[in-house]
Amino acid sequence: MSGVIRRLDETVVNRIAAGEVIQRPANAIKELLENCLDAKSTNIQVTVKEGGLKLIQIQDNGTGIRKEDMEIVCERFTTSKLQTFEDLNAISTYGFRGEALASISHVAHVTITTKTADAKCAYRATYCDGKLKTQPKPCAGNQGTQITAEDLFYNVSTRRKALKSPSEEYSRIVEVVSRYAIHNSGKSFAVKKQGETMADVRTLPNASILDNIRVVFGNTVSRELIEVGCEDQKLAYKLKGHISNANYSVKKCILILFINHRLVESSALKKAIETVYAAYLPKNSHPFLYLSLEIAPHNIDVNVHPTKHEVHFLHEDCIIESVQKQIESKLLGSNSSRTYFTQTLLPGLSVSTSEGKSSSNSTGDSERVYAHQMVRTDSRAQKLDAFLQPASKLAPTPTANPNGQSRGEPVTTNDMEEMDNAEILEEQAPGATEDGEGTSRNTPADLPRKRPRAGQDEEQEDLTAAATTRRRAIKLSSVKELRDDIAEHAHKGLQEMLQNHSFVGCVNPQWTLIQHHTKLYLLNTTKLRSEPHLVCLKSA
Ligand code: ADP
Ligand code: MG
Repeated sequence: MSGVIRRLDETVVNRIAAGEVIQRPANAIKELLENCLDAKSTNIQVTVKEGGLKLIQIQDNGTGIRKEDMEIVCERFTTSKLQTFEDLNAISTYGFRGEALASISHVAHVTITTKTADAKCAYRATYCDGKLKTQPKPCAGNQGTQITAEDLFYNVSTRRKALKSPSEEYSRIVEVVSRYAIHNSGKSFAVKKQGETMADVRTLPNASILDNIRVVFGNTVSRELIEVGCEDQKLAYKLKGHISNANYSVKKCILILFINHRLVESSALKKAIETVYAAYLPKNSHPFLYLSLEIAPHNIDVNVHPTKHEVHFLHEDCIIESVQKQIESKLLGSNSSRTYFTQTLLPGLSVSTSEGKSSSNSTGDSERVYAHQMVRTDSRAQKLDAFLQPASKLAPTPTANPNGQSRGEPVTTNDMEEMDNAEILEEQAPGATEDGEGTSRNTPADLPRKRPRAGQDEEQEDLTAAATTRRRAIKLSSVKELRDDIAEHAHKGLQEMLQNHSFVGCVNPQWTLIQHHTKLYLLNTTKLRSEPHLVCLKSA
């Protein structure tokens, strides 16, 4: 049996349509914000309660609404912005279809208080389902408009249930207000919770876009931004923006994109930008970008559904490629002149600045060196010798001796008495050879040679590490012979190189970059450690 076709009741139609335009409090706020901007407001204040579900209030100082228009302002398709379809080709306002206020009035209790410049006083009216509920009543008020929407989705229980976290809704609201605030520099915006005196975001009327980014995202981002801008006659588009440099990254890409002053999303552009940054940022870290694109109106269709944030435009691929190139060139430029805002000094250097003090260990364990402190940004600031700590300060147990351990040499602590001062050799600080950071003193051929004590078993190699003094007694002539042998056969050129090189940096645990005269070398430290006499070098 086929069903009977009936015409839907107008309120039902409007409520369904309203649910499409207004999906959550942040959508409503976006529409209301755009109305304020269309009315040439310079000061916009948003107040919400329970993430906008209980109350949304938005106050502006714009042109206001004429008393005569108050009757139809909340009806569907009533607007002061568009008259003919052709007007759409050169529309300069956000709104044009007259749907926002109507939609909101179908899912919330709306009150409008407004005053135009030439009206004697302000008027207030309340609305329900697009129609006046109470006639406009004169009241006190400054020029501008205040719109309140209470109990959003009071008549759409499923939607209300779907939005159960006010804090989540509030953060979306703050996000949308902040983004409009950043883009509309020169106008002041504020967003706060009802009852709070402090706004969560507040921008000032005389602030720049960069100032606004600083207010919203903080100094850590804003100081790492590079300005971008270009104009392409052929593609008929203009780009302006601020993008993070190679020093900065966030866990999730932040792309604040305005196309013809509308806050939109473009996954194609985002993807293209991320590929550019991938070459500059560490894995799994992302950039921050604020981009404002102005595309010739005939190349972009503004008549998309109000909730369609994702946009497409003519010559999209070419424009995206052009934006990509612009970003790439700026990043390249910034990479060659990196700025370090906090320079941490290596341990051992006397530090007088407060910054240096704060980076040194506050627990009193002054021997400990954290990885982040081992950053050398200027070779003149510190020598590697800072790592070669004085013997008396080293750890007292043999297990702390990486040299002895990794070489697998027997290390004993109980035969200190047997040590003959004449035979004690100063030992290198641990880690020197391991790290490939060793200086020339590390080369075996260069070690002083002493005679082993008479009466010692020459077949048995016995090295004694005096754990507390970090000195080693060499008692065997076999070792001496080995050394003589090495000294004799060592490659003089390599020896000279190892004695006089400068350490550049570690490539990875195996390869170390060193400089000798005007050449750079890759040093195989694994080989150097196990077969010091056969140092493996690669010319870099
Ligand atoms: P649209 O913005 O598409 O015209 P709206 O439903 O958002 O439709 O608004 C309807 C009309 O109400 C607008 O055309 C405008 O004339 C008026 N209006 C809405 N908000 C404001 C405001 N804050 N200040 C002045 N006029 C407003
Ligand atoms: Mg509007």
